[in-house]
Amino acid sequence: MTTAVPTYHALKVDAQKCIGCTHCMTSCPTEAIRIRNGLAVIEQKRCVDCGRCMRKCPAKAIFVEQDDLDKIKSFKYRVVLFPSVMIGQFPENYSEDQIYAALLKIGFTHVYEVEQPIGFLKESIRESCKKDKDHRPHISTFCPSIVRLIRIRYPSLAENLIHCKAPHDLGAHFALEQLMAQGANRDEIGLFYVTPCIAKMSAVKSPLGEKESIVNGIINMNELYNKVRKNISTKEAPDTSDQRATLTRDGILWSLTRGEARHFGERSMAIDGIHNVVKFLERLENEEVPDIDFLELRACDQSCAGGNLLSGNRFLTSERLERRAKRYQPAIKFKNHPIQEMAATLKPKLALDAIKPNPVFILDQDREKALEKMSKMQRIICFLPGIDCGACGAPNCQALAEDMVNQKAKMSDCVFLQQTWQEENKISTSKALKNMEKKWGKDRFKADCNKRGRRNEGF
Ligand code: SF4
Ligand code: SF4
Repeated sequence: MTTAVPTYHALKVDAQKCIGCTHCMTSCPTEAIRIRNGLAVIEQKRCVDCGRCMRKCPAKAIFVEQDDLDKIKSFKYRVVLFPSVMIGQFPENYSEDQIYAALLKIGFTHVYEVEQPIGFLKESIRESCKKDKDHRPHISTFCPSIVRLIRIRYPSLAENLIHCKAPHDLGAHFALEQLMAQGANRDEIGLFYVTPCIAKMSAVKSPLGEKESIVNGIINMNELYNKVRKNISTKEAPDTSDQRATLTRDGILWSLTRGEARHFGERSMAIDGIHNVVKFLERLENEEVPDIDFLELRACDQSCAGGNLLSGNRFLTSERLERRAKRYQPAIKFKNHPIQEMAATLKPKLALDAIKPNPVFILDQDREKALEKMSKMQRIICFLPGIDCGACGAPNCQALAEDMVNQKAKMSDCVFLQQTWQEENKISTSKALKNMEKKWGKDRFKADCNKRGRRNEGF
């Protein structure tokens, strides 16, 4: 049995840039962020890498750690693996050949769209659903943010996750097999995955059910897109259509909303946007959802076309991909096709062991203690104002109460309670100010607009 690598998170907060404005904290779907000492702090075990906080930060203080593109130079065969959604970002005056040519010019030796062998994945998902009839709806494992969300917040639904890996794993194994069949040594091959989102960056670095990823580096799609734009030429480029010989309409559309759902079960649903997904999963957990066969859940609005590392407009990207897809055949008939020879090697690599729940939202591992904490929390909530202002450094009153029972916060963190205590002479004004400074940092209350994220207009 394989041991999974510890969960990696790519997002970091730059303490020099953070202005403690709480935008990230209030947008986080898993309440993973608190403000401490005037700075945002991400609680890693609650983070699902959805990237909402990064999008919302007005100070660009949340950034993504990434591999240096120069890393490709250490390999003889430098393979760039990317989802088709990358092509959808380019204005239509650039052809597929020109984009592929620019990628080769940058230094890659082989270009692969990861959805090329999507037929294998379709078959594997069908087989996985057939084998496990007891856990419906079957939930797709395509979006790593959703897999993490289910594991930590809806653990009872973890057994509904299908036992198949995602297209980036498939694409990486496909490229590797092809190059090795052509005589390349494994250690000469560098596989570099271009990710449209932070969640895939983390998923590739800490793959579920594997000791280590077969991918050698991760590239931010936004960064690569800009590089390609600088290197692309509108002159005629060499014909690269043989490199897309197994790409199909189904593959190109896979990462868009309904890309998967359309293929599985009579009753399938596709939901995009992490907050929509959270609302839906609440209902599913409470058994308020009618009979559904298959659920495609994606954290980003408009699925990967709205990935947080994409440069283009998500609606334009989807529209371009849909038009591109029309130029391709719907699917490949595997029978008698050369790609069929790879089935025996590739399909076992797509199998995923059952995904274990990792419930981090429970108040205590010990059931009795958890009940005690729950009742204490309810008593605390009665004293709090219930207006979810965030001035305590927690996203809402309930989260503050939870922090309190877990010894991570105190009653005095609530500014309203402090105010009442001052009125009742239970606390001095200077002590109250000190408490506030502890939460928001010493300089926070000085008359400097820059500290508050606005321009200093000179008063
Ligand atoms: S500046 Fe605001 S949104 Fe950005 S990290 Fe700090 S608290 Fe969060
Ligand atoms: S990436 Fe998503 S889950 Fe993680 S801290 Fe940011 S908003 Fe919260």
